[in-house]
Amino acid sequence: LMHLTRKLIEIRTMLLSIDQSDSLKLPSIVVVGSQSSGKSSVLEAIVGQEFLPKGNNMVTRRPIELTLIHTPDAKEEYGEFPALGLGKITDFASIQRTLTDLNLAVPADEAVSNDPIDLRIYSSRVPDLTLIDLPGYIQIASMDQPDSLKEKIALLCEKYIREPNIILAVCAADVDLANSPALRASRKVDPLGLRTIGVVTKMDLVPAEQGAIILSGNKYPLHLGYVGVVSKAPGKAHWRESATVVAQRAETDFFKANREFFTDASSSSSGTGLMVGTDMLRRRLMDVLESSMASSLHGITNAVQLELEEAQYQFKVQYNDRRISAESYVAETMDALKAQFKEFTARLGKPQIRAKLKEMLDERVMGVLEQLYWSDKRAAELGALGADSRVKPEDVEPYWRYKLEAASSLLTKSGVGRDSTLLVVDGLRALIDSIAAREPFTFHPGAAERLIEFSHAILRDRIGVTSDSVETCIKPYKYEVEVDEREWEQGRTQAVDLFERELKLCEEKLTDIRKRIGGSRRLSSLIGYVKKLEEEELERRQRRLAGVEKDGQTLDEATERREVDDYRYPPGQVLDARHAMKYNERSNILKLRLAALRSKRCKAGPNQNILCPEAFLNVVAEKLAYTSAMFINIELLDQFFYQFPREIDSRLLYDLDRKEIVAFARQNPAIRKHLDLQERKDKLEEVMKQLNSLSTLRKDTAPTPRRN
Ligand code: GDP
Repeated sequence: LMHLTRKLIEIRTMLLSIDQSDSLKLPSIVVVGSQSSGKSSVLEAIVGQEFLPKGNNMVTRRPIELTLIHTPDAKEEYGEFPALGLGKITDFASIQRTLTDLNLAVPADEAVSNDPIDLRIYSSRVPDLTLIDLPGYIQIASMDQPDSLKEKIALLCEKYIREPNIILAVCAADVDLANSPALRASRKVDPLGLRTIGVVTKMDLVPAEQGAIILSGNKYPLHLGYVGVVSKAPGKAHWRESATVVAQRAETDFFKANREFFTDASSSSSGTGLMVGTDMLRRRLMDVLESSMASSLHGITNAVQLELEEAQYQFKVQYNDRRISAESYVAETMDALKAQFKEFTARLGKPQIRAKLKEMLDERVMGVLEQLYWSDKRAAELGALGADSRVKPEDVEPYWRYKLEAASSLLTKSGVGRDSTLLVVDGLRALIDSIAAREPFTFHPGAAERLIEFSHAILRDRIGVTSDSVETCIKPYKYEVEVDEREWEQGRTQAVDLFERELKLCEEKLTDIRKRIGGSRRLSSLIGYVKKLEEEELERRQRRLAGVEKDGQTLDEATERREVDDYRYPPGQVLDARHAMKYNERSNILKLRLAALRSKRCKAGPNQNILCPEAFLNVVAEKLAYTSAMFINIELLDQFFYQFPREIDSRLLYDLDRKEIVAFARQNPAIRKHLDLQERKDKLEEVMKQLNSLSTLRKDTAPTPRRN
């Protein structure tokens, strides 16, 4: 039947990992005792190893869930902290250090923590047992601690000494049992002493006769009885022996020497003998735990069944029994990322890129026209030349030919390689950033950061190569641009479109200003005023240049008058008027040039390029956009589209170990919930299976008589 306890201990561990609710608890033995009662010594004697933290300053701040696993054939003894993932620890001094560290890690102001430390010890010398060592609230009660802390510890202990746990009350033989805090605590929750077992330590410190009286339990009867032990080695341990071995021998010697007082219960035929010795204690604990577990079996089976049904129902209702795994979630997320990226990149084809670049270059063409033509005082001449049908291209002054060449090279030499590359790079970057900023990456900030980081790295890597390559390929246009009829016509119509759009914009702005100022009348008077201001300013500047300042008085008057006017026109409106003048000017030019672009002469073909610079520059811009798009596609986009999915795999997917995959999946709250429920259901199913196999096992076995 040893098999049963062992199995149930396993089940108990599994249940603890499912949840901490009381209904799913199998009994364990909870050790209580005041400071210096010999609690640690007893626990170490049971295990046969020194492993508990020592020190006066309340070294146990967290409960220790100690699971002992009997491994009959193993030569090695070792401990394990499953939560820490440190593996087997064969050095018990190291276990002791780890326990000390874990306890000291609880901040002093919290003093105690409810979070138990899970420690398992595997040995051929230990029985299958579960023991819980608690921070001693009993020892604390006598100390000068704040009430809140006392309460906290009391609550923690209360939680553990509840049913179905067995209470191991440790009392020292040299202290009156009436004063034993352990027994007092036990009596509160187990007044009949049905699930309390007394351990009387330091039997060597009282006369054997007196010790025997204590163990008889006449004064404070406990259903499970008292066991007397001696668990302290007298003097120093021999260097080749562990302290516990020495202590064990001292105990054996002590009880042998006082045999007449303590007849061992197991050897006494009458069964009235007293229970003494650590060995006896071990066996007693095994028996008690086993029968307690056996009697819990039925209840726990029902509870697990209920929980399992609930979990199965929820799993059906919420997820329609659909199973997921962290791995599949990660894989699906990455696939979705790739798919999303692909969908986005469809919007980044050559035609789209070309259109974007053309837009940028159109802006630039406008800038060049403004700089070289519109601000030229002779601009009107060009219009007049164009309108005169008798003027032949060869009659046009070289001035205008140079102008066109300057305009063309201003455009071709404006750093198109770098700027067009950066334009596309920025587009890609914005795309990646937007992917990283939406679900599911909002749940995975680490992955989002890595995604951005490696995408930017690929882009950074390609900027130089791409812009150089684009610049090289547009180089011929810096010297000569050949234009055929078809290209000319296209350039002309595009220029017309562009100008129309620009004109519309100008007009819209004007309308806005007019509305803001309060009608066109008011706007024209404002403009008149601003013009006057400008004239005055001009006049003054001229005078100053001429060094004449004689008629200063008139000017002062003008300034004064203006100050009064300024009062009438708020500065914001003056600014609006200035803008309105600019827009007016521009829309006039645009209208003129639109007429030119629509003229017969302009339609005649590329030989009219000097008189129709807008059409020509548009053709140049088109050619630059076409060539840039082609090489950006080869050097940047193709490379990026090739590398990106591979980097997803290598940086986001294959990089993760099992633990990280689970952590990643659990960052998503919906997935975490799904996984949690699924895991709970799986564990409950497993526990149920084990419980069922146990009950069949028990039916085959004859029940053992319980000791009384
Ligand atoms: P805890 O504070 O309850 O964990 O008590 P310890 O196990 O640390 O023991 C307190 C003191 O009592 C230590 O100095 C032990 O050496 C001593 N001690 C423990 N058990 C015995 C025993 O059976 N006999 C004697 N004489 N001393 C003991």
